[in-house]
Amino acid sequence: MPHSLAGRIVAVTGGSRGIGFAISRAFRECGAHVAIGALDEAQLRSAADDLNLTCYSSLDVSDPGSFRTFLDKVTAALGPIDVLVNNAGIMPVGPLLAEDDELTRRTLDTDVLGMIVGTKRALELMIPRGRGHVVNICSVMGQTALPGMATYNACKAAAITFTDAARLEYRHTGVRISTILPGGVGTELIAGLDATVALPIPGTSRRIPLIRTVEPADVAHAVIRTVAADASRPRVYVPRIAGAFLGAQRLLPRAIGESLNLRLGGENARHADTDARRNYQNRISTTTSDG
Ligand code: NDP
Repeated sequence: MPHSLAGRIVAVTGGSRGIGFAISRAFRECGAHVAIGALDEAQLRSAADDLNLTCYSSLDVSDPGSFRTFLDKVTAALGPIDVLVNNAGIMPVGPLLAEDDELTRRTLDTDVLGMIVGTKRALELMIPRGRGHVVNICSVMGQTALPGMATYNACKAAAITFTDAARLEYRHTGVRISTILPGGVGTELIAGLDATVALPIPGTSRRIPLIRTVEPADVAHAVIRTVAADASRPRVYVPRIAGAFLGAQRLLPRAIGESLNLRLGGENARHADTDARRNYQNRISTTTSDG
């Protein structure tokens, strides 16, 4: 764990579980002062206890006022923010026409608006100091298109392009802006989904795994390495092979790339186990910052 991060002030959205929790823990292990924000207050308190954090606050990233209040509270409690990790996100899967319009809006507001607003507020705070790092947790799903994931694919594509444009616009300010692109990560977000990229063996039901899901700690270590490098990183894939896979696919004619994708597991979201996803689906449809 890099010692250079000791004493840094780090705010993590969605730090109460999954990848955000692992990122928060990794920064703590580096000696950073960490603050987390999320919707579900009970989960937030329990995560803050586990991580021994003094600073945590209810946050709805889809509400610009809530985001500003969160960052103000963190600054008042810990000092000027050195790192903002825009991690909060939700992922509905299943047939597009069965997706409730409210959930579609909520996904856009959380995954896109939340990231844009968070990046803007962080830049306002960091540019006058001439330093800081905004880390945006995007997804390889923003560089591909799969049945059953249209809204999420669109949101993560927007998040990637937004982060690229913001990085270029503010490249001379001393503030770093980085894009992290995980593949499948073992959290509740992929409950009931087979997120492994795998080659089917003809005539059998067996598949040879090509890209396995990774653990939240793997993403956290990539974030730590990125911030410790003290430079903007436009593409950090976790695992790295996912980036190579997407790069190779872009060299293929579109029809071949798409059909390969579907054969390697790209249809899985359409056939997600709805029972196994019920808790998650319920959480992302109903949780609000006031309980
Ligand atoms: P989890 O569902 O485990 O955690 C999501 C976190 O985001 C929770 O803390 C949740 O808080 C918080 N959150 C959701 N909506 C809001 C909101 N409106 N305001 C504030 N906090 C919110 O998901 P993951 O850890 O898997 O995902 C984290 C990020 O990583 C997401 O952006 C996701 O798209 C991305 N990602 C995930 C991958 C995966 O396979 N798991 C792969 C690639 C990217 P609460 O519990 O209070 O709702």
